[in-house]
Amino acid sequence: MSLRSQFPFFQQGPIVYLDSAATTQKPQSVIDSITRYYQHENTTVHRSAFSQASALTDKYESIRANVASFIGSTHAQNIIWTKGTTDSINLAAMAWGNQNISSDDLIVVLGSEHHANFVPWQQLAKLKNAHFKVVNVLPNGDIDLSHFESLMLLQPKLVAIQHCSNALGNIYPVKQLVKRAKKSGATTLVDGAQAIAHVPVNVEDIGCDFYAFSGHKMYGPTGIGVLYVNNRIKHQLTPVQFGGEMISHVSIEKTEFRPFPHFLETGTPNIAGIIGLGAALEFIQSKMFFEASKSSASLYQYLINQLHDIGTVRVLGNTNKNIGVVSFVVEDESASDIGALLNEQHIAVRCGHHCAMPLMTALGISGTVRVSLGCYNNKGDIDLFITALNKSLSLLT
Ligand code: PLP
Repeated sequence: MSLRSQFPFFQQGPIVYLDSAATTQKPQSVIDSITRYYQHENTTVHRSAFSQASALTDKYESIRANVASFIGSTHAQNIIWTKGTTDSINLAAMAWGNQNISSDDLIVVLGSEHHANFVPWQQLAKLKNAHFKVVNVLPNGDIDLSHFESLMLLQPKLVAIQHCSNALGNIYPVKQLVKRAKKSGATTLVDGAQAIAHVPVNVEDIGCDFYAFSGHKMYGPTGIGVLYVNNRIKHQLTPVQFGGEMISHVSIEKTEFRPFPHFLETGTPNIAGIIGLGAALEFIQSKMFFEASKSSASLYQYLINQLHDIGTVRVLGNTNKNIGVVSFVVEDESASDIGALLNEQHIAVRCGHHCAMPLMTALGISGTVRVSLGCYNNKGDIDLFITALNKSLSLLT
C-alpha cells in the first residue's frame, strides 16, 4: 500500500493539498485509533476502579512516555498535555511567567514568530510592566545574530524562539540561540509547531526549558498538544486552573495539588486526542514515513526550480535550510487573488500574513502565497500546482 493511500482525504476527489503547515491530513491508523477508543475503550483515566479504566490509564501514560522519548526527554513526567502549541505557550506564560516575570524584566522573541509565540509574551510584559524586545530578521527571514547578541547582553529573563518558521520554512539554529540565551541567565522556550514533523527534535540536546508543539501538525488530531518542561524549571511553575484531576487532597481549609505535571492538567483530559497522537507518533516513526521523508528535500528543490522559471515570482525565505515551505510573492499581484484562482483549480494553498504580521512588516510585504509540503505530496502535485499557477497569472495580467 502506498503512503498516500493511507490518507482517506485524498480519496474524495481532485485536490492538490499544499497546506500541511496549517494542518496535516490524518492517516487511517490515526482515525481508526480514535474510533476504536470511542467504540471499545471509552472510559476515563486515573479515576475508576474497573479493569478497562486501568488498562486505558496504562495506555494513556505509555503515550506520554512515547512522546517523551520521541523528543529526547528522559522523563515522561516532563510532558504536559495541552490543547496545542498556542495553549502550551500560554500555559508557560501563565504558569511560569506570572510568578517569574517582574517589572523591568526583559522578554525577547524573534521577529519571525507566529503570533502564538509573540502575543502571549507581549501581553505578559504589558501585565507585569516588563520590557518586550524583538530580534531583527534579515531579508531572507533568518535571525540577525548580531542584534540577538546585543539583546542577550541586556540579560533577558525569558527568550522565546521559533524552531522553524511557519511563514517561510526557515530552520533556525535553536541550539546555538538557546545556549547563548542561557549564558545570559534566561529561561528559554522553543516553539516547535513546525519542526516536529520535519526535523529531529531532541529537547535535552537543544537545552531549552520549554518546548511546545501540536498534534495536528504531525498527522495527529486537533485539540491535543504538548508542553515539555525540563527538571530545572518545573518547580517554578504554579497551577493556573483548579478543579478535578489536579488535586491530591481537598478540605474546606485548603487544597493540596498533585505533583508536576498533573497539577497543570485540570479536568478530564482529551483522551481521544492523546490516543490519536499516540497513533500519529507510530505513523511518523514508521518505515513508510521514513522512506517518504528521504525524497522530501528533492521534491522541495523541484518546486523551487519550477517557481524560479516564472520570472515574476519572488521566493522568500532561506531555501537552503528549510522544512518544505515555499512562500512567494508575485510582482503587482495580490496573494489572495492568486489563492482564489488556485482554489478554482482545486489547489489548496494558504495566502496572507500566516499569523506572522511582525515578520511581514519587517519584510515590507502584506502577505505571501504559501505552499507547504507533507509526506503525501509528490512531483505530480507540484506539476499540477505550477500549471494552475501559470494559468492564474495569465488570467490576472
Ligand atoms: N507556532 C507556529 C510556528 C505555528 O506554525 C503555529 C500554527 O500554525 C502555531 C504556533 C500555533 O499552533 P496551534 O494553532 O496548533 O496552537
